[in-house]
Amino acid sequence: MWSQARCAQCGRTSGRTILAVPHPDAPDGISHVFQCDGCGLRRLDPRPNPEPLSRYYAQATGYNAFAGRRRSPRAQAVWEFLRDGFSRPANLPWLTRLAAPLTAGLADWLFDINIPIHGRTNLRVLEVGSGYGDILIYLKARGCSVLGTDLSASGAAKAADYGVEVRVGNLADLKLPAQSFDAVILCHCLEHVPDPNAELAELHRLLAPGGQLHIAVPNGSATRLVTDGVEWMHLSHPFHFWFFDRENLVALVRRHGFEPIAPPVTTTRHHAWGLWRSEAFSTGLIPATRRLLRYLRGSIGNPQGGDVLRLVSRRV
Ligand SMILES: [Zn+2]
Repeated sequence: MWSQARCAQCGRTSGRTILAVPHPDAPDGISHVFQCDGCGLRRLDPRPNPEPLSRYYAQATGYNAFAGRRRSPRAQAVWEFLRDGFSRPANLPWLTRLAAPLTAGLADWLFDINIPIHGRTNLRVLEVGSGYGDILIYLKARGCSVLGTDLSASGAAKAADYGVEVRVGNLADLKLPAQSFDAVILCHCLEHVPDPNAELAELHRLLAPGGQLHIAVPNGSATRLVTDGVEWMHLSHPFHFWFFDRENLVALVRRHGFEPIAPPVTTTRHHAWGLWRSEAFSTGLIPATRRLLRYLRGSIGNPQGGDVLRLVSRRV
């Protein structure tokens, strides 16, 4: 049902436990966030095999991005206004153009993935693990040609309602044509795949030379992985198999023929103050304050300890 995995970076099996996470189906009722002693990459070990895993996904109804857009019309308009500031598609209204220096920065802070369009038309974009294709719907409306892939048939069906094609299946099985994309999005996807090497090798084949690979993953060096432990929101047990840090994510993409455009960055969108406020209501003032203090203490000396790690690289 569950099995051990080798390190995706260096192939070793040895290492140490960072965090023990209980699960009733795991051998001895426990699985581990385990750190490779060869390269430092953190992984889930043991992890569920495909059969129980698909069952867990089916049960995790709140997890999937398959339900479709839920923003109010006003929130949707603001969302697109901010995205336009960063992406700068052709024919922007003057107000959007005027606000772009400000909204681009806001979008960069708010959204894990931002695709620069810069007036081009027919930019070919692929998103792996797209769900119903929130960003693809946006990009298509801005003149891009888009395709999603996902393991979820319900995500694909929902995407079709929005006029976006999402193919169901593993990326390698879909046999998409070589060099047929200018940009690829892996938004909180790479940590889910059993073999990130196979995924990145296939993406190198699919991207045109110079094409961009946009990755967002949970940060394996996140302060909250240590201070919140099993309650860390990005642990998503048992769905997240890999917890990359800046060094091993860069090493991994380089190995597959990608070169970072800029150093990777980590971001924390769920800020300490906001979390404290919501927890003070749900769990009480004292536990919330304790957790806040633990987090603040842990943040000292860990400036790259944000929750999410982002990397944009170019296909060489
Ligand atoms: Zn390793």
